[in-house]
Amino acid sequence: MTHPYTEGLAAGVVRYQCCAACDAWQPLTRLACRACGSADLHWRDASGRATVFAVTEVSRAPTEAFRALAPYTLVLATLDEGPRVMGHAAPGARIGDRVRASFMAFGDSTLLRFD
Ligand SMILES: [Zn+2]
Repeated sequence: MTHPYTEGLAAGVVRYQCCAACDAWQPLTRLACRACGSADLHWRDASGRATVFAVTEVSRAPTEAFRALAPYTLVLATLDEGPRVMGHAAPGARIGDRVRASFMAFGDSTLLRFD
């Protein structure tokens, strides 16, 4: 039920999957390396520094719990290590902004936020 990515958020780090054979980062949780095919993948902690790649303003929340936050800003951010992850952001976030990951408790889970 727990996952290294969500466990990382709860512990205050952004994690991504990485190949032990050739060091390539992986875009999503995968069973084999996208670059060399090795199945020896492991999780690594990212620095938390990233660049905003895309921005969305959410005015209609997908669930009752998120309705309390709406309207809110979501960004797709490219970690300095390469992978792209989605997170919350301050209103007015722009593509190309340099941001740093932070973590906010939300109910039983921890949400990733870029500021
Ligand atoms: Zn590899």
